[in-house]
Amino acid sequence: MSEAAEHHREREGVGPIVLLGAPGAGKGTQAKLLERRYGVPQISTGDMLRHHVAQKTDLGLQAVEYMQRGSLVPDDVVMRMIQGRFRAPDAARGFVLDGFPRTVPQAEILTEKLKHLGWPPPLVVYLAMDYNILLQRLTGRRSCPKCGRIYNIYLQPPAHDGLCDVDGTPLITRKDDREDVIKERLRAFVEETRPVAKYYRQVGLFHKLDGSRPPDAITAELFVLADSRLHGGEEETGTVA
Ligand code: AMP
Repeated sequence: MSEAAEHHREREGVGPIVLLGAPGAGKGTQAKLLERRYGVPQISTGDMLRHHVAQKTDLGLQAVEYMQRGSLVPDDVVMRMIQGRFRAPDAARGFVLDGFPRTVPQAEILTEKLKHLGWPPPLVVYLAMDYNILLQRLTGRRSCPKCGRIYNIYLQPPAHDGLCDVDGTPLITRKDDREDVIKERLRAFVEETRPVAKYYRQVGLFHKLDGSRPPDAITAELFVLADSRLHGGEEETGTVA
């Protein structure tokens, strides 16, 4: 047995989960719920990049222009940023990848990294959405800068206009949720990220859920899929060869 395979046998927990889907498909919302239920971190490359931009790090300076126009940040910048994150102590029982991988080369590197760390193939869930619903979700999206809770002024409004239900903080609109930028983000998704879904479908690791249903229904299905990982139920469904 390889060193990686031996390591894998010692691992407990839900393991790696990849949430795929267009911007606005609900990946962030679902990732937070998975994080809470399984005690594993949400790893959002979008959040990490925004942090680098806010802190004006070298990496942030390299990423900012791409992000402002809604294009993908180059793979090498993203890979440098995420380097080492999967080995952090909080990721020992698994992690939820939200917004990564976004391109086929990122997916291929992830496959190698997971293998190297002794993880089984990830649970990959694609939240599929209708284009018009996505537009409504993205243009209506507001979030709390303090606790990160996400609202939608059309679909899930806060109890008091513009204020977070949890801590009363004024809600903000992300800069890249403007319509022209949204269109570019959706183009990047169609051209560069949809092939990632195909990549995982080909290696047999793929579950597609209808992301336009109420979030609770999606969460329930996700929990069933992820629970089966705790008991080894996914083992035979796919290998990344
Ligand atoms: P998100 O919050 O996931 O929608 O990401 C916001 C922006 O960050 C995207 O529009 C991209 O510019 C950039 N970004 C996030 N994750 C990645 C990634 N894995 N690869 C390339 N660019 C990314």
